[in-house]
Amino acid sequence: MVKKIMKRLKTKPILPDEFKTSDSVYFRKPGNESVVGSGTYGKVFKAIHVYTKELVALKKIRMEGERDGFPVTAVREIKLLQSLKHVNVVSLQEVMVEKNDCFMVFEYLSHDLTGLLNHPTFKLNPAQKKDLAKQMFEGLDYLHRRGVLHRDIKAANILVSNEGQLKLADFGLARFYAKRRQLDYTNRVITIWYRSPELLLGETQYGPAVDIWSAACVLVEIFTRHAIFPGDGGEISQLDKIYAILGTPNSRDWPGLKDMQWFELLRPTARKPNVFADKYKERVTPAAYELLEAMFQYDPAKRPTAGDVLEHPYFAVEEPAPQQAIE
Ligand code: ADP
Repeated sequence: MVKKIMKRLKTKPILPDEFKTSDSVYFRKPGNESVVGSGTYGKVFKAIHVYTKELVALKKIRMEGERDGFPVTAVREIKLLQSLKHVNVVSLQEVMVEKNDCFMVFEYLSHDLTGLLNHPTFKLNPAQKKDLAKQMFEGLDYLHRRGVLHRDIKAANILVSNEGQLKLADFGLARFYAKRRQLDYTNRVITIWYRSPELLLGETQYGPAVDIWSAACVLVEIFTRHAIFPGDGGEISQLDKIYAILGTPNSRDWPGLKDMQWFELLRPTARKPNVFADKYKERVTPAAYELLEAMFQYDPAKRPTAGDVLEHPYFAVEEPAPQQAIE
């Protein structure tokens, strides 16, 4: 006996007229209307899946000027993102080809931390600030445990959903790092305001402590809405900004200081005192102050890991407990 299999065709969904014009399953409004950001590689568009209605961010991969086919930087970012899965790390859903363009397709998040902190009317309360900070370090802790350095932590690369869920984004500069072996990397990474002193002094064998420094800068911004070290774009000016607040570094606190590649070249002319306490002690809670102080240590080996940070009394003991910032 042969069983007859009846095939019932699925009814074809009827698409709204607007969606019918879409060149792919992700519809976006024409022109610049759907542009939500522009990064180093190309534009980022807001789009909607025409069947599921799910919102996505499409990051266009720029192919102009590429002589050797698909850009290696994009391959690196895609491979890295594909290996990551965590609630506090933006998820890459797929890579799509549309006409002659390639896009990375991400889940869409409606805010970034810069926008949230600078919002004219919406103010975060201390519990919500703590919750965002906690999620940032959860994301970093995951990355570092997986052997990934983000290398571009800053408020603009931290996305936040309507429900107050935070996700680290923009892995364009991220790398796997050797946990035991010391490898050489370029030290020209991280937007300069968030760049750690060891990077500014030419270190090429750095580790997760560079992300901790950047995250500490972001934490100050979460608390005060202002960048702690807003330099004018150059390495010297950036070091001066840091020295002006944390004082000039010395070998007692940072035994590796004199081994830094550019230590002699960028040697400060006058000794400056540490005025961090004067500037910040009154502006944040005692535990928050202690945590910031620990993360802003010149010696990268002395900075806490993301895991240590999460266990710090600021998160674990001090009131108020974290509370999700819902729109
Ligand atoms: P680049 O590596 O080119 O700097 P980013 O990944 O930082 O690109 O994206 C640039 C901007 O696009 C971000 O600052 C943000 O405003 C927006 N963006 C990126 N990813 C998303 C997303 N998943 N959801 C919403 N907006 C996003």
